[in-house]
Amino acid sequence: MADAETPRSTIDAETLQRKYDEEKRKRLREDGEKQYIDASGDYEDFEKDPFVKVPLERKAASEDIDVAVIGGGFGGLITAIKLRKAGVNSFRIIDQAGDFGGTWYYNRYPGIRCDIESLIYLPYLEELGIRPKEHYAHGAEIYAHCQTLGRHFDLYRQALFETKVTSLTWDEALSRWVIKTNRGDEIRARYVTVSQGPLAKVKLPGIPGIKRFKGKMFHSSRWDYDYTGGDTNGGLVNLGTKKVGIIGTGATAVQIIPVAADYAKELYVFQRTPTAVDVRNNRPIDPDWYESLPKGWQQERMNNFLALLSHKSQDIDLVHDQWTDYWKRIAVLAAEKKQEGSSDEDPLAIMQQIDYEKMDELRARIDDVVDDPTTAESLKPWYNYLCKRPLFSDNYLEAFNKPNVFLVDTDGVGVTEITEKGVVANGREYEIDCLIFATGFDVAAAAYKVGGYDVVGRNGLHIDDKWSHDLKTVHGTQLNGFPNFHIVGGFTQGTTAFNFMHALDIQAQHAVEIIAKCIDDKVTSMEVTPEAEDRWIATMEENHNMGIQRYFENCTPGFLNNEGDTESKPSFLGSNFGGGTVEYERIIHDWRNERVYDETTVTRLKE
Ligand code: NDP
Repeated sequence: MADAETPRSTIDAETLQRKYDEEKRKRLREDGEKQYIDASGDYEDFEKDPFVKVPLERKAASEDIDVAVIGGGFGGLITAIKLRKAGVNSFRIIDQAGDFGGTWYYNRYPGIRCDIESLIYLPYLEELGIRPKEHYAHGAEIYAHCQTLGRHFDLYRQALFETKVTSLTWDEALSRWVIKTNRGDEIRARYVTVSQGPLAKVKLPGIPGIKRFKGKMFHSSRWDYDYTGGDTNGGLVNLGTKKVGIIGTGATAVQIIPVAADYAKELYVFQRTPTAVDVRNNRPIDPDWYESLPKGWQQERMNNFLALLSHKSQDIDLVHDQWTDYWKRIAVLAAEKKQEGSSDEDPLAIMQQIDYEKMDELRARIDDVVDDPTTAESLKPWYNYLCKRPLFSDNYLEAFNKPNVFLVDTDGVGVTEITEKGVVANGREYEIDCLIFATGFDVAAAAYKVGGYDVVGRNGLHIDDKWSHDLKTVHGTQLNGFPNFHIVGGFTQGTTAFNFMHALDIQAQHAVEIIAKCIDDKVTSMEVTPEAEDRWIATMEENHNMGIQRYFENCTPGFLNNEGDTESKPSFLGSNFGGGTVEYERIIHDWRNERVYDETTVTRLKE
């Protein structure tokens, strides 16, 4: 692994940038985000839950509670745990899945792992005394951790699984949210938290002919083990007689491909844009080392990682992986430039120089690993490092050396048609038995959209209508017109982090502290004022990170830059807080301690 100390190579930046621009142009499409279709209507089978074998039967609930936690993934779990710890015990967790886990419930494809270190990703490890097996945990271990949290904090008895919220309406007379579900429940909750995750809504490419295909097909997040055999560890023995196609080469596909390559008779990988894949360097967690960690180690490790990735100088790099290496290299170059007294201290220019170097190394790695030079050339990514989620794998590139694996590179065009028998790419039909869509999720969908219900606030105001006319929030978590309503995991005007768990933790803490305070103070309704929204918008504008915006605008199309369409997105209003997650946490912490009632309209219970 190259590291921050590695000497700098000479890069012809101009030629490289020309190549990046050319590759980007190839991929820009008029239909932008509209090229994708929802897994609804004719396509709803793609979102059907394959893991619930016997549907749950229960009576409809009718109850008054303090808090409805919508979503049982990590966002909802952390929120519920914090409520429990704060002594707020009257809550329900509602999720359409059959168990806790959210993205880890649905995504059980073979080879699944998290590429954020387990020690900072898995919440409450230290408190529960749990040692993950490896530095980068397997999906099954993460899913099991969700269940452990559910059991440890006694959350199961308050969970309503296999339950889809159908409407969420503020009742002014009751000062409560009325939550209706597909099981006939009516739950009247004083407060609501919504965290349905960015990876919940399946996305399919709008390729003509999907419905014509006569073979087996499914989305990666609804893996059909009845068809393939095996489980998340592999053993896909039924594929031994099958020709398998996979569309996509993103974070998911990179994990599936090596496992599918071990079992499929033939595996066809349909690639539109290659991804940058670094070494993973996974290893077991040494029990003795783990035992020696000082009290408070987990929060310290999370903070250290977040700080390094937020360009905040740190004396030590606790996680010390490919993520921190990239940011440390930027810090080292910035320090060098400063020492040289160079006038060229534009942070973006410094980042760009490191980026060219990093991507050059990753392209060189492909030549080292992949035997066939034409395949190696086709696997090379030509864009900046963060334009797509950086990936880590020690067996992805290696899979292309197998005789049963065929890379079908479409040079930016993608699959153009699906027929009864297979997939058309580069004008040729590839006959296959099974087609896997590793085509991702509608990441831009707002939390309430993902659940497929509308949120109706004060005076019948629909959240959609508010946001289509007036995209405003306070901290990306609360909205005027929507009392007692908290988004946990909101990044529009909120925050996100590469360790998403950290961002969830920060926003869950915020929601729970406010809710607990309101309950203590007998507050029945708390609503941020329009003035508070305007102040947050002004703060967003002041902190708007033009550099990062330009970085993403220059990227190859993808969900991180609205598929390259930089015109139709509402400027900084649609992005997250540009001052970074560390500063965001400080701001919301101070707000809830000092200004929570100043910037809200508050109604209290009459004594
Ligand atoms: P992505 O959106 O990242 O990838 C979708 C893939 O489908 C891309 O390669 C895309 O190509 C391709 N595609 C779309 N349409 C076509 C077409 N018509 N023809 C050919 N290819 C097509 O989805 P993923 O599920 O891979 O990842 C989503 C997110 O999930 C990640 O960004 C990450 O946040 C998370 N994740 C994290 C993991 C981890 O921690 N290890 C693992 C898995 C997912 P193109 O690039 O050209 O658009």
